[in-house]
Amino acid sequence: MTVFKLLLLPGDGIGPEITAEAAKVIAFLGEAGVAKFETQTGLVGGAAYDVHGVAISESDMELAQECDAVLLAAVGGPKWDGVPYDLRPEAGLLRLRKDLGLFANLRPAICYPALAEASSLKRELVDGLDIMIVRELTGGVYFGEPKEIIDLGNGQKRGVDTQVYDTYEIERIGRVAFDLARKRNNKVTSSEKANVMKSGLLWREVITALHKREYPDVQLEHMLADALGMQLVRWPKQFDVIVTDNLFGDMLSDVASMLTGSLGMLPSASLGAADANGKRKAMYEPAHGSAPDIAGKGIANPIAMIGSLGMALRYSFDLPKAADAVEAAIAAVLAQGLRTPDIKGSAAATVSTGQMGDAIVKELAEILK
Ligand code: NAD
Repeated sequence: MTVFKLLLLPGDGIGPEITAEAAKVIAFLGEAGVAKFETQTGLVGGAAYDVHGVAISESDMELAQECDAVLLAAVGGPKWDGVPYDLRPEAGLLRLRKDLGLFANLRPAICYPALAEASSLKRELVDGLDIMIVRELTGGVYFGEPKEIIDLGNGQKRGVDTQVYDTYEIERIGRVAFDLARKRNNKVTSSEKANVMKSGLLWREVITALHKREYPDVQLEHMLADALGMQLVRWPKQFDVIVTDNLFGDMLSDVASMLTGSLGMLPSASLGAADANGKRKAMYEPAHGSAPDIAGKGIANPIAMIGSLGMALRYSFDLPKAADAVEAAIAAVLAQGLRTPDIKGSAAATVSTGQMGDAIVKELAEILK
């Protein structure tokens, strides 16, 4: 049996608490003979700064390069507010994304029927929602040069950011979206502002050509990013896979996340380029932060973290049945009414982080029996 190498980076705040629950699932899958995992644990963020004086050590970066997937919880917290900019907790995340070449950010927005009441939209709009936002993560206006504030000398300053995309960057993110769509409902919505931006015009041109050349079997539509924002809150179930640039993806994926009710529910994956064997560098992490306000209280919701492990099973380890089982186990415990405080709604009682993790493992055992 293949041994999958997984690097756990619990990080800060609630990170260690929710990582412990993901570790229970990993241990169970190993014991149940679904797959063999070799896990190692490293430090990232403030936790790494406290020990090594940097947001991630060279030895942990080496482990990240060697493993099949990184499972990171969250970084940051008020304790490290004063540390130098280059050493701040987020620098560890950025280094991982950059050095591993993680250009594709996958953010699913899934609304479990049992939680539809927690959404800001009406139940019928979100019940059963399952969309995937594919955001370009390493290019665009966040990284383009020039990027500066110029003193114009007349009491005025000018802030400049540059939106820049090359053909290869658009093609590789497009391929990720089309490949995903083939495994889902076969539809891609590509989004930019081709009406007012040259980079948007090129984006549309490249995606259209790629579709014609390599993915004619997938349904493709183009939608301006402002219209897409509107449609996401009007009728989100019309979408399957949405592919867009770094800036629009940042905003649209946050909008989509609120449709699902709670930040504590949302996993994410960041993928690099496929090598000759089709293997990609990959990092999986909840969409939420380190929640310092509730750290150490045993009340954090571990579902986004366990869902992130589920995404690793699907996208790094090619274990779709195990990934389906993890998702079904999460849906089942929610349907039974188990709630951590963040998703309490009108529930009579809540469970702890550990009880939620245990319940998911128990369901998983039933499903895989
Ligand atoms: P946050 O996501 O940590 O918390 C926002 C709110 O959601 C808080 O009330 C928190 O208690 C709640 N919440 C988040 N995750 C939860 C969970 N799993 N279960 C229950 N409740 C949960 O965002 P924030 O408060 O803006 O940031 C806190 C720290 O996290 C900051 O230092 C920030 O820089 C960092 N951060 C890190 C990441 C990351 O590691 N990827 C992302 C965002 C923020």
